[in-house]
Amino acid sequence: MITVDDTRVIGEARVLAGLDQGRLDLQRHLLTHGSLPVLTRDQYTKLCEAVGLRGRGGAAFPVALKLQDLPARGVEAVVVNGSESEPVSRKDRLLLTQSPHLVLDGAVGLAHALGAPHVLIAVHDARAAVSIREALMERDDRLAIEVQETPGRFVAGEARAVLSALEGGNAVPPGRRVLPTRKGYHRRPTFLSNVETFAQLAVLARLGSRGFSSTGLISEPGTQLLTIDGAVQRPGVIETPTGIPLDTVLQYAGAQAGPVLLGGYHGRWLPQTEGVTLQRPEVSAGIILALGSDTCPLGEITRVTQWLSSQSAGQCGPCVFGLAALVDDFARLTAGDPRGWHDAHRHLGLVPGRGACAHPDGTARFLTSALEVFDDDVQHHLTGRGCGRPVLGVLGGTR
Ligand code: SF4
Repeated sequence: MITVDDTRVIGEARVLAGLDQGRLDLQRHLLTHGSLPVLTRDQYTKLCEAVGLRGRGGAAFPVALKLQDLPARGVEAVVVNGSESEPVSRKDRLLLTQSPHLVLDGAVGLAHALGAPHVLIAVHDARAAVSIREALMERDDRLAIEVQETPGRFVAGEARAVLSALEGGNAVPPGRRVLPTRKGYHRRPTFLSNVETFAQLAVLARLGSRGFSSTGLISEPGTQLLTIDGAVQRPGVIETPTGIPLDTVLQYAGAQAGPVLLGGYHGRWLPQTEGVTLQRPEVSAGIILALGSDTCPLGEITRVTQWLSSQSAGQCGPCVFGLAALVDDFARLTAGDPRGWHDAHRHLGLVPGRGACAHPDGTARFLTSALEVFDDDVQHHLTGRGCGRPVLGVLGGTR
């Protein structure tokens, strides 16, 4: 369970403001953040453009472009994607459970500006659903607002899988790539983004572009939420200015020295942390996993690959068979079989770009960077003697 004890702030608290006193009900939310100004669609678009706001779910798509892609009339829904399917990520659940009104302000304010009659909130955490429903009882938003629990599978958080689940279908990406801004909820134009994006929109509407830009990078100012986990003394969610050095965050969380995975299980292993700054798109959904030096990297990676393979929605051959083959390749490589190493390289060249969603591509990115960064460990394993370290399960969330 996420508690406010797991949250920290480096610099100015914005989306986490007020949480040092516990969950924000409506009264405390208004005391902390003030009321939401009423803005037009044009004002939202200009504000997002001015601060270069990008979606906080992983794809880091510019919010202004998404707004500009919507038709002038007939926007059906604003969808808050709170499915947070990256298993280590906790930031969206934290916002939904501890600061639900900030998320609702972002979604409701935008829905009014777009003339959208529906706000839909997809969550796969029962506590988050309870929190949002409690918050809705305190408000009068004059809109149809629905909270729906969606399945917790990895690919169920993909935008089109979320829309399918909200329409009563299976929470899997459909076999075709279409933009929700053109054909979203019930094939009508829809603005869909992740929970933190809406919280940031609510902050931006209040602060304006100048106030919002008083911290963080010039190119994408403001703050960001990061989830840090793995071999760290203080795991949890941290709000930082955008562009903060990774080493500052690692030190703050008490991370053990060792390799770091940035961006979750569709992210990349970093060859070094020095000089790395945390910004989109590299930071993706804001997940930082420190591996430490006590565990066997290849064993950890094989475990995660098994889990990623199990999360395939089972409808695209390159994903179903390709990921299963990679599990086998990495298991053989870890056991010291050089053919496992050769086959892994071969399959990593075949899998990307051939699924209906980004799952195979993300998995291939994770594994390709692993083979680069852990080359010394690979060589040890290929001697047949392994690296001598146990597999501790530092890379969590995969059960
Ligand atoms: S690529 Fe994999 S996860 Fe994505 S839709 Fe196809 S089978 Fe499902």
